Amino acid sequence: MRLLIVEDDPLLGDALSTGLRQSGYAVDWFRDGSQADAALSVAPYDVVVLDLGLPGADGLEWLRRWRSAGRTIPVLILTARDAVDQRVAGLDGGADDYLVKPITIDELGARLRATIRRATGRAQSVWQHGELEYDPAAKTVRWQGRPVELTARELALLEALLAHPQRVLSKSHLQEKLYDWSGSEPGSNTLEVHVHHLRRKIDPGIVRTVRGVGYALGSGEAGS
Ligand code: CA
Repeated sequence: MRLLIVEDDPLLGDALSTGLRQSGYAVDWFRDGSQADAALSVAPYDVVVLDLGLPGADGLEWLRRWRSAGRTIPVLILTARDAVDQRVAGLDGGADDYLVKPITIDELGARLRATIRRATGRAQSVWQHGELEYDPAAKTVRWQGRPVELTARELALLEALLAHPQRVLSKSHLQEKLYDWSGSEPGSNTLEVHVHHLRRKIDPGIVRTVRGVGYALGSGEAGS
């Protein structure tokens, strides 16, 4: 999953992006709304974490612009303004959730999981796909009841596929879900290597190759 953080406080922004990367998210952090707005146009984010008090147009103003432009991406507002009217304005402005500072990475992580779960239409906190079980909080995977050890990138790839179990996802889309703009460019065959590992560690049919298009999640049944 890839997150967009908009936060002008350098200490908090740094702490959030570091903490959330350690939790396995790809994270891009911007200090004002116009940079975030530009990023939103080019990368496939799953959730925006939006501070309200920002230089220039404030977070509420950006949220209104995004919603009126038809952007449906989940937005979690993060702010020091704890007055009830601000919370109401945020939610009425199209926010999906609201967190009042000071916050911990643990609580933000839990809210993000809940937001992503709702956005992917799931009611249960453990994601089930055939014989595959994925617990986003514990970051654990079970196949036919037995635990499977995956690296952070393999987990991120599996999570991206599980978020859209019916869709074929292009290689470039999956690359963009796994890698933010902070690090070095992934090698051109990195995605193929991760897919290979998922098939070896879980089941050969867990990821389907759709020739010329990309990858899709398999049925989740052994040997299919
Ligand atoms: Ca601020």
